[in-house]
Amino acid sequence: MIFEEHIPEYTLASRAHQSEDTIVEAGSVKIGAGCPVAVMAGPCAVESAESIKRIAGKVKAAGASVLRGGSYKPRTSPYSFQGIGPEGIGWLKEAGRASGMPVISEMVSENDMDLFTENVDIIQIGARNMQNFALLKAVGRTQKPVLLKRGAGATIDEWIMAAEYVLAGGNPNVILCERGIRTFEYATRNTMDLAVVPIIKEKTHLPIIVDPSHATGNWKYVEAVSLAAIAAGADGLLVEVHDDPDAAASDGAQSILPERFADLMEKARLVAKAVGREL
Ligand code: PEP
Ligand code: MN
Repeated sequence: MIFEEHIPEYTLASRAHQSEDTIVEAGSVKIGAGCPVAVMAGPCAVESAESIKRIAGKVKAAGASVLRGGSYKPRTSPYSFQGIGPEGIGWLKEAGRASGMPVISEMVSENDMDLFTENVDIIQIGARNMQNFALLKAVGRTQKPVLLKRGAGATIDEWIMAAEYVLAGGNPNVILCERGIRTFEYATRNTMDLAVVPIIKEKTHLPIIVDPSHATGNWKYVEAVSLAAIAAGADGLLVEVHDDPDAAASDGAQSILPERFADLMEKARLVAKAVGREL
């Protein structure tokens, strides 16, 4: 009884509140149940105007629908590459425009709100900031699509409650993204929680996508996890792709080459078809 009094219910995010699935629109791309599986792809970090444009062309040719690239990188060490900053957001926007894809990038501070609302189609809130309530309230005040990653140590209900912050602020355009959770297992960077896909679909009306790159931390496992996510009913993927992973400024070990990405997309199309989806 005590616990029931202390755990508030999420309302706006719940199926009980809204039975029809939320479809989030980013440019011409629709993300959600019944829509084609949306594949967001690109490097972990925007590194130069040339490289983001080159990689954009390659992932677009393979069938990606959204271009990803971080320009503000939340790194474990303060001595690691922290991202290009505002200039990189400009390069990402330009690469997206040139290749005909909306763009997604991670925002780490509400001070960057104007930069992101003006230049980015989907604002990513990273795993480390899932419960940064100031940030959640800030993106809740816009109508920009928000991709909310699951915190590495967050339960499903905590994650949905974080989404509730954005919805309660007045922004209905929330996409959830599973990117693996922290467990005792160290064979992978995080532990992919695949059951979360049907659970989120049952509990909420929000789109759910899967990030196989941060979930595994190893390019070798990215394809298998991607295909499994689509088979489980995910509405999309977020995949790190780099054409020179050894030289990547961040997350090279989990980045797949554009050729492998093209191969993954071929297989993903077959899996999507098997579960009644397009890609
Ligand atoms: C990223 O997408 O590059 C990232 C930092 O992801 P996460 O927040 O899931 O660690
Ligand atoms: Mn990354």
